Amino acid sequence: MPMLEVKNLSVNYGAIQAVRNVSFQINKGEIVTLIGANGAGKSTIVKTISGILKPKSGELVYEGTHLEKLKPNKVVAKGISQVPEGRHVFEEMTVRENLLMGAYLRKDRDGIQEDFEKMYQRFPVLKEREKQDAATLSGGEQQMLVMARALMARPKLILLDEPSMGLSPIYIQEVFKIIETIRDQGTTVLLIEQNAKQALSIADRGYVLASGEVKMTGTGKDLLDDPSVQKAYLGG
Ligand code: ATP
Repeated sequence: MPMLEVKNLSVNYGAIQAVRNVSFQINKGEIVTLIGANGAGKSTIVKTISGILKPKSGELVYEGTHLEKLKPNKVVAKGISQVPEGRHVFEEMTVRENLLMGAYLRKDRDGIQEDFEKMYQRFPVLKEREKQDAATLSGGEQQMLVMARALMARPKLILLDEPSMGLSPIYIQEVFKIIETIRDQGTTVLLIEQNAKQALSIADRGYVLASGEVKMTGTGKDLLDDPSVQKAYLGG
């Protein structure tokens, strides 16, 4: 059984049909990526999984439970954390306080303490900036912070919406490396990216979306090697 099964999902904004009859699966331990141009419907799918948007029709089944009617906090409680597009840090809180916000549903103090140490190991720059207000971090550092904040919830599945957007090349490399580490340490990943080449290179499987529909699917490697994917999304 897949960890998350999205079945015939359709999502509308008023009269605009942003997602049409989309189906895909995520298995435990995978990085699955959704790629596609601006407006293909990727963010809409992520927001629907996390409970921010409600589907018009279709099913979202996570570990046997239907998510369609759950509020975002209930979805988080089930083990799904989202890192939204655009790096929303709590600007006037310190790095450490931001991380603590990620653990707000947890009661296991020792575990939380353990995870602080884990995050500081995985993201050394956050340790250095621990007491600084999040507003004073660079874009790349803020991206590290929002990823670490989501991991503080100890999610089983993490949803990453455009984590490389607007970052310098060095940070982009860093972010993709960290995503692989996240998977290797046991968290399943749904990765939304415009940076299709890098996303497919680390993904176990991918889905190509256009105009709200799934057009193609395969392993990351198969899609990278596919001439039509190369032409449309990988710059020839
Ligand atoms: P991007 O990478 O630009 O975010 P995307 O693939 O994530 O693209 P979505 O943001 O999911 O695409 O948008 C899918 C479609 O829904 C687009 O046509 C977009 O214009 C439309 N849309 C998105 N948000 C809204 C909204 N709040 N109200 C109306 N239409 C919207």
